[in-house]
Amino acid sequence: MEVVSTRQELDNYLSGLRKRGIKIGFIPTMGALHPGHISLVSRSVEENDYTVVSVFVNRLQFNNNKDFETYPDSREEDIKLLSESGCDLAFFPDPEVMYPAGYSKVKLDLGELNNVLEGPMRPGHYDGVVQVVYRLFDYVKPDKAYFGLKDYQQCLVIKLLRNAFFPHIVLQFCETSRMENGLAMSSRNLRLSAEGIKRAGQIYKVLETIKKLSDHIEVADAIKYGRHLLKEAAIETEYLELANADTLQAGKKWYRKGKNVVLIAVYIDNVRLIDNIIF
Ligand code: AMP
Repeated sequence: MEVVSTRQELDNYLSGLRKRGIKIGFIPTMGALHPGHISLVSRSVEENDYTVVSVFVNRLQFNNNKDFETYPDSREEDIKLLSESGCDLAFFPDPEVMYPAGYSKVKLDLGELNNVLEGPMRPGHYDGVVQVVYRLFDYVKPDKAYFGLKDYQQCLVIKLLRNAFFPHIVLQFCETSRMENGLAMSSRNLRLSAEGIKRAGQIYKVLETIKKLSDHIEVADAIKYGRHLLKEAAIETEYLELANADTLQAGKKWYRKGKNVVLIAVYIDNVRLIDNIIF
């Protein structure tokens, strides 16, 4: 595996491959890699000739400076995990590589996606995601790009970005990898206490319970029961909502099969965790 940090080095490796029609798969990450990230890498390795992973903690997408400053940095472990996973090229750019002086911001209207769920809770977050993924797509020019369904709203944002600027890139949205107790793997889990990790197992259990209840009770009652279970587990809920899986508009009635997504954000040990279930 090659490890590069400049755009020139990236081009040196990729431009020849592109000319030869080699299929390039790409996974953007912020590092502190865990098996969830690696599942995306493995899928790309299966589906492409060459896999590129970027590791860049993108300041623009943090609406909370402390969150940015305390974001875990584990470059050496990340390189080891990536080289064992079949990744061909790891890209660790410095901020000035991603955002050179005088760079121009891309404009993308996210419409209602900015006004629901994560949108109002994290002002500027998706604009920051758009800026970095636009530039990464432009640098890497992949055939396929891989994102996790754990960040469901982000997947819809990326779809808008792809449709507007990169229609030739195939997007693959991948299942959430979970710990044994159901907790979605996340770099943020590193900040949870052992007791917090145990308690956080309730998050996905509640989502599964709501899915089961959708067969026989109304949306409002299922959500109310979910909130009750979370409260019982002493979990502070920021939101727990049913939405349409295509638009993320809030739903009062269950949608048809495959179009329901219940999304959740909670705080445990002062760590903000998100998850969802699609059914
Ligand atoms: P991040 O490093 O948090 O920006 O995540 C990089 C990519 O990995 C994003 O597309 C995430 O949605 C995805 N990802 C993060 N956690 C998981 C997980 N537990 N399972 C699958 N994909 C994940």
